[in-house]
Amino acid sequence: MAEHRTKVLILGSGPAGCTAAIYAARASLSPILVHGMQPGGQLTITTDVENYPGFAEVIQGPWLMEQMTAQAEHVGTTIITDLIVEVDLSRRPFVAIGDSGDRYVADTLVVATGAQARWLGLDTEKKFQGFGVSACATCDGFFFRGKEVAVIGGGNTAVEEALYLTNHASKVTLIHRRGELRAEKILQKRLFAHPKIEVIWDHVVDAVLGTEAPLGVTGLRLAHAATGAKRELAIDGLFVAIGHTPNTDLFRGKLDMDAEGYLIAKPGSTRTNVPGVFACGDVADKIYRQAVTAAGTGCMAALDAEKFIGHTELPQADAAE
Ligand code: FAD
Ligand code: NAP
Repeated sequence: MAEHRTKVLILGSGPAGCTAAIYAARASLSPILVHGMQPGGQLTITTDVENYPGFAEVIQGPWLMEQMTAQAEHVGTTIITDLIVEVDLSRRPFVAIGDSGDRYVADTLVVATGAQARWLGLDTEKKFQGFGVSACATCDGFFFRGKEVAVIGGGNTAVEEALYLTNHASKVTLIHRRGELRAEKILQKRLFAHPKIEVIWDHVVDAVLGTEAPLGVTGLRLAHAATGAKRELAIDGLFVAIGHTPNTDLFRGKLDMDAEGYLIAKPGSTRTNVPGVFACGDVADKIYRQAVTAAGTGCMAALDAEKFIGHTELPQADAAE
């Protein structure tokens, strides 16, 4: 079990964490970045990325994150594979404890822990997870070659998942609880034009239906969102794409967060309520949630941390606040 001492400890290696690391390293702050359970973050579970500026051709999410991680490392970031399971933010230097047992002692902390897929919360959904129920089409779509699948949700993720699944499945049914999608118009256009995709509006999933031995999905029981009227749909696989929950359990009672668990940063900055702790990316953003905005606020967090360190070296500690 080791102790790691740093001026800037960054939790998370998505676009926010990597960008914070690039800026902090280039400011000679020798940051340490801890990967967490998803090295590279959410973009590692997608394929095409068409809206990250700087690339005229379509790029792949996992490739983009490999490049960001390598860039952070090349400019001087120490990257450690560990999961932070405990933090003490009651005094500086802050202390974080890794799943490995390692201790991280830091003058400032950049929280870039992002978000993770949300589930419907049905018992039957849980029962069939990994046996026909998934939250990642790019990870599991291949298992449904020539089969019929359903996608739940009406945002960008649901539409992208549905389009991606047409590469494997014979038919994709998108089920949405309302009568209109919130996904970008360009994605909606592709969805509606696709011959393999059908949309069921105004329905929610009441239960996932399936077999016991072997465990597997055979269909869904749907309920009309307004009338409650039930109907069944035969499918082989279910992809849940209903949004994300911020990874903030670690900070409950320690950092200010809103009712949904998103960290609250002071307007126009990444400063949290604890001086020296900065929040960036999806963990503090329930509105934009894009790779480029995560990277942008990652940059802000590193600059805020640099400024904080500069100010706290002055006799008047906490002057930055
Ligand atoms: P994340 O990418 O969520 O990364 C969080 C990081 O924190 C991970 O490395 C994780 O391991 C780490 N972590 C979590 N908890 C801990 C802990 N306790 N200790 C240490 N580390 C921890 N956006 C676009 O702009 N374009 C797209 O085309 C696009 N496609 C998408 C497709 C899908 C399927 C999804 C799900 C999202 C997509 N997005 C897209 C959104 C984009 O991926 C996110 O906005 C972005 O990844 C957020 O970056 P982040 O750095 O804030 O967090
Ligand atoms: P989202 O935009 O929050 O959409 C979630 C969808 O799931 C909504 O349509 C919502 O319905 C539905 N939903 C939520 N809870 C539900 C429940 N319990 N039962 C049934 N349906 C439910 O989430 P997202 O699509 O994952 O996108 C997250 C962020 O990442 C967004 O900012 C998005 O722009 C970004 N992203 C971008 C891209 C891209 O740029 N290409 C790709 C993927 C994701 P309502 O509409 O009724 O609320």
